[in-house]
Amino acid sequence: MDIVEEFKELVQIDSASGKERAIADALAGKLRALGFTVTEDRAGDTFGGNTGNLAAFREGDRPGSILFCSHMDRVANGFHIRPQGKNGYLVSDGSTILAADDVSGLCAILDGVRRALASRSPLPRLEIAFTVGEEANLWGGRALDLSQFQSPFCYVMDSPGTLGRLINGAPGLAKLQAEVRGKAAHAGNEPEKGINAAHILCHLLDTLKDGRLDAETVSNFPLLGTGNTATNIVCDRAWVKGESRSRDRKKLEDYMAYFRRHCEESVQGTGAQVTSSAEISFAPFRLEEKEPVVALACRALKAMGIQPRIEQGGGGMDANIFNAKGLPSLGIATGYTKNHTKEENLDLESFTRSGELVEKLIEMVE
Ligand SMILES: [Zn+2]
Repeated sequence: MDIVEEFKELVQIDSASGKERAIADALAGKLRALGFTVTEDRAGDTFGGNTGNLAAFREGDRPGSILFCSHMDRVANGFHIRPQGKNGYLVSDGSTILAADDVSGLCAILDGVRRALASRSPLPRLEIAFTVGEEANLWGGRALDLSQFQSPFCYVMDSPGTLGRLINGAPGLAKLQAEVRGKAAHAGNEPEKGINAAHILCHLLDTLKDGRLDAETVSNFPLLGTGNTATNIVCDRAWVKGESRSRDRKKLEDYMAYFRRHCEESVQGTGAQVTSSAEISFAPFRLEEKEPVVALACRALKAMGIQPRIEQGGGGMDANIFNAKGLPSLGIATGYTKNHTKEENLDLESFTRSGELVEKLIEMVE
């Protein structure tokens, strides 16, 4: 099947994080038709979704094993997509996202496998993971049992940019929150008997180091609230939620410790109490260029006449989870840009050749 036609078919199947049933069923059918054994886990149960991750295997006729991964969900506004061609790109009709993130990755894998099968040369063991809930906190990747795969590394076909861009690192993310507990009192009669949690939280935030912390570390605290529903009571509860990102795990951990210390120090002498929490949502990763997973991708691209561009990514993806679990995983761009917006587009030249890249990786893996 033509890769562009298959893309149009799959983006027109509605999908969202936790609602991947229809596209998972379509993909499982396609994989079985290509000779794969397909299983589905219970990842959906971990976040209220209706679908699990698909794991697909096809035994090899020669030694070696290779694993590819893409995600089946998409960000919001991914229903009723009407894909269309425009000056060498695929775009939506302007009212929805295009969902090339990450349907382009799904299609690259299917197309590469079909090409490899058509070549009639002996193939290594082929392994595929199609995950759920990636756009909602990487839920599928977290729940995925990696011990079922034999491959020594994984290619995650899910990154913006034209073909040749390889993502060998991405920042980690920590979730931070604090709640200040003061004391309620009538705001008119006896405000001096209250402890104003909102005021104390504002002071805490005003003196907190945030924003750009250094070249590879940032933090942001955009969610604030109080327990109050009226203005005539001194505020007894105020909270903040935020995040920090860093390419360096130590810096992330240092900031988490600083945040919690700062919360404690900010309430000292006020009579208020504070509870704070800081936890790593996903760890940063960084693969050396000489690592086999990176080196093979570079060789495959060069064999296609494409110069590899090894870069650090900015967001979180399944590769963050897999690398943290000990499976070296490289992000590969398949041609999309402006993902997560209505202007999302897919470069047809990159996209059609991404299937070729999957075929080359299958052919060249040892
Ligand atoms: Zn994605």
